[in-house]
Amino acid sequence: MPGFELFGDEERKEVNDVLETGVLFRYGFDPVRQGHWKARSFEKQLAKRLGVAYCHLCASGTTALITALISCGIGASDEVIVPPFTFIATIEAVLAVGAVPVFAEIDETLCLDPQALKAVITSRTRAVLPVHMCGAMACIDEISQVCERHDLILIEDACQSVGGSFNGKALGTFGKAGCFSFDPVKTVTCGEGGAIVTDDSTVYTHADAFTDHGHDHKGNDRGLEAHLILGTNFRISELNAAVGVAQLRKLDMMIDRQRQTKKTIKDALAQSDKITFRQLPDPDGDTATFLSFFLPDESAAQKTVKKFGEAGVDGCFNWYANNWHYISHWDHLKQWHTAAKLPSQSAKHCPDYQNLTLPQSDDIMRRAISMQIKLAWTEEQIKQRIEKMMDIIGFLKS
Ligand SMILES: *Cc1c(COP(=O)(O)O)cnc(C)c1O
Repeated sequence: MPGFELFGDEERKEVNDVLETGVLFRYGFDPVRQGHWKARSFEKQLAKRLGVAYCHLCASGTTALITALISCGIGASDEVIVPPFTFIATIEAVLAVGAVPVFAEIDETLCLDPQALKAVITSRTRAVLPVHMCGAMACIDEISQVCERHDLILIEDACQSVGGSFNGKALGTFGKAGCFSFDPVKTVTCGEGGAIVTDDSTVYTHADAFTDHGHDHKGNDRGLEAHLILGTNFRISELNAAVGVAQLRKLDMMIDRQRQTKKTIKDALAQSDKITFRQLPDPDGDTATFLSFFLPDESAAQKTVKKFGEAGVDGCFNWYANNWHYISHWDHLKQWHTAAKLPSQSAKHCPDYQNLTLPQSDDIMRRAISMQIKLAWTEEQIKQRIEKMMDIIGFLKS
């Protein structure tokens, strides 16, 4: 899964370009940068790869989400529908802009259930923020239809799914804005980095300004540039962007390799009648960073993960037990443990997360196991992995 597995001379060359000029800032310094514009070049490459008009690179996936929400006009007291299975950053981003996260159930795609989503729409709902989890897509066409029908803004968290697609269209390009992460463990990494993509020129202009204190980036004298809006500093440095430029060129190769490995393992496991697989609305658009499957119940899932671990089959998770990716362990959210009062706590309709129940999601998450697909595995390692997994799954009672 992670691009860091493939670091090499390509990354070193891009970083050295930046070190040689000494210009670590992504804007300005035209005379001394010797034509090196790493952040800009990454933005051009990613926009082209995804088939989208605009891309803005920033400090992280989390700041990309905050920037996308703000640039789409989402703010204080607006309700944003989110899934309970995601990295907590999605929820933090909604809270950071003063908006209110409202949870809807997931389905066996491991992403937002388009039907369940309808049930939590209120007059205060402004946006829907589905997350394309573990390298593959939500039912994004149905979700986008619900958004259209109810006049809601669609923003995609595609942080885990760069390069994925649904019916040939890139994930992250279905709504008003899409967000990506290039943190140290993502498919493409900048060390730290993130991006907002959009076809909407206003969203782009706002994102570009917001992440750099509101600068309109129109002059060549920074001190004289106009302040378009109030912003903050969510900038990426040229050093981080440089790593990403080299990594992005490897994206298609990484996805190809992951798909091959995943297919080999999935075909073998499919012979067992003890497991079923995660639903993929378009299997051809899967980036194959994970193989996710379901056991009959929670106890079987826990036992299986434990046995995998003991047998040296690493990189397998039962997300239900993970502190950071599923709401069951988000006590700090349920009890509003914050360093300071958040605007959403003062909202008239501040949600009671403590008493929220999500039975459909709980059932799915309890039974789910995800296995990371590594780029570095050799054919022999894959073969051994399959043998061990089949052995362990074979012991399960049907
Ligand atoms: C990684 C991730 C983020 C946050 O990205 P960072 O770059 O680590 O801030 C947000 N959402 C999801 C689903 C992620 O996996």
